[in-house]
Amino acid sequence: MAFEGLTGRLQNVFSKLRGKGKVSEDDVNEAMREVRLALLEADVNFKVVKDFVSKVKEKSIGKEVMDSFTPGMVIIDIVNKELTELMGGSQAKLAKSNKPPTVIMMAGLQGAGKTTTSGKLAKLLQKGNHRPLLVAGDIYRPAAIKQLQILGEQIKVPVFTLGDQTSPVEIARQAVQHAKDNNLDYVIIDTAGRLHIDEELMEELKQIHTVTNPDEVLLVVDAMTGQDAVNVADSFNKQLELTGVVLTKLDGDTRGGAALSVKAVTGCPIKFAALGEKIDALEPFHPERMASRILG
Ligand code: GDP
Repeated sequence: MAFEGLTGRLQNVFSKLRGKGKVSEDDVNEAMREVRLALLEADVNFKVVKDFVSKVKEKSIGKEVMDSFTPGMVIIDIVNKELTELMGGSQAKLAKSNKPPTVIMMAGLQGAGKTTTSGKLAKLLQKGNHRPLLVAGDIYRPAAIKQLQILGEQIKVPVFTLGDQTSPVEIARQAVQHAKDNNLDYVIIDTAGRLHIDEELMEELKQIHTVTNPDEVLLVVDAMTGQDAVNVADSFNKQLELTGVVLTKLDGDTRGGAALSVKAVTGCPIKFAALGEKIDALEPFHPERMASRILG
């Protein structure tokens, strides 16, 4: 289960607070010291933790909270609200172009879950009565085209491919035209990933961006990789102007660092969460629900 360690530790801190009829400034300081350690252990970015704790402290230490009937509960509520804020506050919705098709470019490192997520997103859009087109733009990983075709067949969504001999930039260009010609309203472009960020990959992504002028550039990151995921998001964002992040593998035993740091570090909202390998294991990301889940 994701966040298990963090949830357990936070619950410990809060049960101590809740047990007190009166909460002193020292109690708050002690609780925040423990919250700080719990977040660091969950691999949350150091600066994010520092800012978070100081905000919660500032709001908690004051006559109003300390004199309240249930100070412990009020402080827990403050933590809940600040966690929600940390993850973006409210749900960041997927863009919808006034001039269809809406073009979504998927980016990310190899193995993050890009191809799988493209299929899942197509399925989600289809459920919302849209007509998506999947585009096989990863021509370097031998199985990627086939993988997308199988996903497309499974959910009955068309897959646009020109094989692996045409450049991804040209494939993307023709795919958008194909969507226009066939009245398809969303284009989801699966792009190539590498094991590490490299110049060539970025250059290709930038060219696809120029040619298709996407409404969304979604970076798919593996939540299990914690701060690495955040660093990857930061580097991509500096070069590509991401519009959102998809966190995958939240069904695993991820500690929470990526979910809690990525928005604060990059400014990019998390738009979707993937919670499994199955085609319907993708959900719009709701910061408030995630905060409640983390608090347990
Ligand atoms: P890509 O290289 O980024 O296109 O990655 P793939 O889409 O091929 O995914 C890599 C692996 O991660 C595959 O085995 C997927 O089934 C798996 N995967 C993707 N998303 C999730 C997820 O949310 N949870 C789990 N458990 N596995 C996932």
